[in-house]
Amino acid sequence: MKKTVSVLGSTGSIGTQTLDVAERLGLSVCAIAAGKNITLAEEQIRKFHPRICAMASEEAARELKLRVADTSTAVLSGEEGVCLAAAEPEADTVVAAIVGTAGLRPVLSAIDAGHEIALANKETLVCAGDIVNRRAREKGVSIVPVDSEHSAIYRCIGRAVNDRPCRITLTASGGAFWGRTREEMKNATLKDALRHPNWSMGAKVTLDSASLVNKGLELMEAIQLFGLPQDKIDILVHPQSIVHSLIEFADGAMLAQLGVPDMRTPIAYALTGCGAEECGVRRLCLSDYAGLTFFRPDEEVYPALRLARRAAAAGGNSPAVYNAAAEEADGLFVEGKIGFTEITDLIELALDGVKNAPVNSLEDVLAADLAAREAVLSTFAKR
Ligand code: NDP
Repeated sequence: MKKTVSVLGSTGSIGTQTLDVAERLGLSVCAIAAGKNITLAEEQIRKFHPRICAMASEEAARELKLRVADTSTAVLSGEEGVCLAAAEPEADTVVAAIVGTAGLRPVLSAIDAGHEIALANKETLVCAGDIVNRRAREKGVSIVPVDSEHSAIYRCIGRAVNDRPCRITLTASGGAFWGRTREEMKNATLKDALRHPNWSMGAKVTLDSASLVNKGLELMEAIQLFGLPQDKIDILVHPQSIVHSLIEFADGAMLAQLGVPDMRTPIAYALTGCGAEECGVRRLCLSDYAGLTFFRPDEEVYPALRLARRAAAAGGNSPAVYNAAAEEADGLFVEGKIGFTEITDLIELALDGVKNAPVNSLEDVLAADLAAREAVLSTFAKR
């Protein structure tokens, strides 16, 4: 039977690719949610006829409501509306593709409604992994990764019937500045940082790829998804982005998933649980590549990795602090207020400044998130 899906973050890079995959696979779309892009949301409503469309921006929702008054789609607004879209009962799977911490509450609503989660929004697991995993266990809900590296690991683990991995390796493209020194990155512009060599993605994840903050977040995401301690998780830069990640068994044997860099592969896998030919992805031809190379990143050039390992080792609220500080520092860089390498300086200052504490509730996560943002902004204001 064909699945019905809800797509949170439907107007973004993952959201639009998910709708493309849904169309190719003939899946129904019962709810969509986004921030403020009403032009695209209107197009999506007219094409996919969801029962609900939620816009986080109240103003955008008001305007959209007028524009689609001739359709049967109900337009909701605000975070509450997005959470209602996430809980829409008809869905089998909710694709969580909102960017940033804003994705957390909607994911929890989807879990509470008993929906399987196809998770692109890694920030949710980074800042509240224990809470999200506990709720998912209580509700019997599975969380299937969409991030290409984690999808690769998930897929390899699924094929290793009698064997559990003892290590995993996350690969990284290296982002826009791979090969440069830290000094050379100092004056990088936003335009430079958004020039990703292999993947076409949303602005935040592209920027975070250039600083390797994204890989730091993925390290913490992997800990939550696969239950391995961080010292069992390696990170290697693989500039061709063909080997999406690897698992290693006790005897040293490794399994990897390879493919062209196209997010429709992990999206379709999360939606179908198998390799779906119709998903539209070009096939990989290995002889097109002169070589596949792997490098250990220098954590002095990329402090984001060292800091992510520090946050993961500290546990408690530190991953949430890392995540929120990164979001806030990224925002300052995007506004041209700080230099590129200051992004990780500010993350470090937030980790130094916000006291490590256990996380027992969503309130604890939100308090850490707020404290980290305040730490970044007050450091910036004092400069
Ligand atoms: P984009 O910036 O392209 O899209 C973000 C989406 O979130 C948009 O639909 C945006 O709506 C929506 N949004 C923003 N704020 C809110 C809010 N408060 N409430 C509801 N919706 C909101 O991001 P990506 O698609 O690139 O990334 C989404 C997630 O997937 C991130 O967590 C990222 O790390 C992860 N990811 C992305 C990959 C990629 O290839 N793009 C790869 C792996 C993971 P609007 O535009 O209308 O304002």
